[in-house]
Amino acid sequence: MQLAKPELLKTQNYINGQWRDAASSIEVRDPANGTLLAEIADGSATDAGAAVAAAHTALPAWREKTAAERAAVLKRWHQLIMDNADDLARILTLEQGKPLAEAKGEIAYGASYIEWYAEECRRAYGQTIPTHNPAMRLQTIRQPVGVVTCITPWNFPNAMITRKAAPALAAGCTVVIKPASETPLSALALCQLAEEAGLPAGTINMVVGSDAPAIGRVLTEDERVAKFTFTGSTAVGKILMAQCATGVKKMSMELGGNAPFIVFDDADLDTAVSACVATKMRNAGQTCVSTNRIYVHESVHDEFVEKLRAKVAELQVGHGTDEGVTVGPLIHRRAVERVAQLVQDSVDAGATIELGGDFLPAGENYYAPTVISGVTDDMRIAQEEIFGPLAPVQKFTDEDDVIRRANNTPYGLAAYVMSENIRRANRVVEALEYGMVACNTGVFSTTVAPFGGSKESGIGREGGVEGMAEFYETKYCCFGA
Ligand code: NAP
Repeated sequence: MQLAKPELLKTQNYINGQWRDAASSIEVRDPANGTLLAEIADGSATDAGAAVAAAHTALPAWREKTAAERAAVLKRWHQLIMDNADDLARILTLEQGKPLAEAKGEIAYGASYIEWYAEECRRAYGQTIPTHNPAMRLQTIRQPVGVVTCITPWNFPNAMITRKAAPALAAGCTVVIKPASETPLSALALCQLAEEAGLPAGTINMVVGSDAPAIGRVLTEDERVAKFTFTGSTAVGKILMAQCATGVKKMSMELGGNAPFIVFDDADLDTAVSACVATKMRNAGQTCVSTNRIYVHESVHDEFVEKLRAKVAELQVGHGTDEGVTVGPLIHRRAVERVAQLVQDSVDAGATIELGGDFLPAGENYYAPTVISGVTDDMRIAQEEIFGPLAPVQKFTDEDDVIRRANNTPYGLAAYVMSENIRRANRVVEALEYGMVACNTGVFSTTVAPFGGSKESGIGREGGVEGMAEFYETKYCCFGA
């Protein structure tokens, strides 16, 4: 791999400030063409235990630093990431597949959490509470929860780590991270830069490992761990929540979604189509907030489908490092086959392919950006998270009915509303049972706002002041007469 800074290509686990080998290795391959990129030390549950021990040992000294001291180190980390953004983006595209421009966007987005929380930790104010007894004084102080463990997915291999590690470290916690096995290179490069920034040994630790259940047990059950935070599928999240329950660990869960995208008859259709393509096709549809069910008012349905078809047809599929490419491969062949099966099931049940619906000769992990119409709520495609470049369109006639249909899912992560009518927009935004609702845009995630879901899409928030609160314990201090 050609990098301006070759030291960013790390292949060992990072525990207690040391790069450590393992008895076996995990292969990391380019999903676009299968090229072997690296072989990574395959960490074990024992390594995870060593990482937790290191984080526990490093905790008192890191917690005792002033907020300004922690902020200075985090700002250096942020700067080093931005200085090396081109290399980090290249590593990300090669192991994950997204186009280079998107990868660069993720590096800047991921780094922005480090900068923002470096600033925010200086404002961890407590309160003096008006007392119930003149002889007593009541206060709250905010203290770091302690050792934080994290498990992250492959679809945002950089930002899903910084969204957790930055507020945790800023608050004075120490962290242990298990990144996804498909994308450990972006994660380990972050550790290299953290080390260069001066994060003390043991404050940040990383264990890559193919035995995720065994490592996960340590990260959720070790008694030295105070808080566990996970981003990934709802199915795995439920297992990990049960494990956290044994030790009553604090936990945050960023899980799957089934986002509705509602286009009213008073929407600006060009805005709606652009927003739809942005949320649906970014990262080849492999994001937790990807539009999953597109509901279009019957009076504008045909025009919307035609505009959507034309816009999706403009997308350029190919290797993420090639100039002009806007959609890369899916993460692996299983994902492609699953998308193809969802298309087939829908067509068998009466849906129509408007565009795409094919495997592509470019490689076995490619699937054509696809638009299908005639979808109904009882189809599998409307009930499961698609995680691919597949836009399924349904019709609706009535506002109350479409709200009921949009809410009729166990998920509650993101939803989208397209309407130029401000009263309707307010009404519908408030009626949707989702953690995040975007109106007349398809891109809404930012460092400064809380990201997270309701229902089976998660617990807790990342980003904004809410994301910082997840890593503090609020202690009530009562001073007697
Ligand atoms: P996943 O299969 O749940 O895996 C996520 C992470 O969990 C990986 O590091 C994986 O390790 C690990 N893991 C798997 N099984 C485990 C177990 N039994 N115990 C402990 N760890 C385990 O999810 P994914 O396919 O990587 O990611 C896609 C999912 O993430 C989608 O559902 C998406 O919606 C969700 N997501 C949510 C958000 C959000 O903010 N709400 C953001 C991004 C993605 P290995 O890689 O080693 O198997």
